[in-house]
Amino acid sequence: MLCPCGCGESLYTNLMDDFDPYWKYVIEEKTISLKPSIDRLVGCKSHFFLTHGKIIWC
Ligand SMILES: [Zn+2]
Repeated sequence: MLCPCGCGESLYTNLMDDFDPYWKYVIEEKTISLKPSIDRLVGCKSHFFLTHGKIIWC
């Protein structure tokens, strides 16, 4: 997905638990939630949760 801060960077979240780090996802009522939070350590350093399809900034 594109970084929600608007910096234009593409973010990749690994969903396979064979590799670290990985995120667990839940789809409920056509929305997706990811855990844990997404914390960019480079660039814009955005830190947020994707919860029920919405960005929750940390
Ligand atoms: Zn960004």
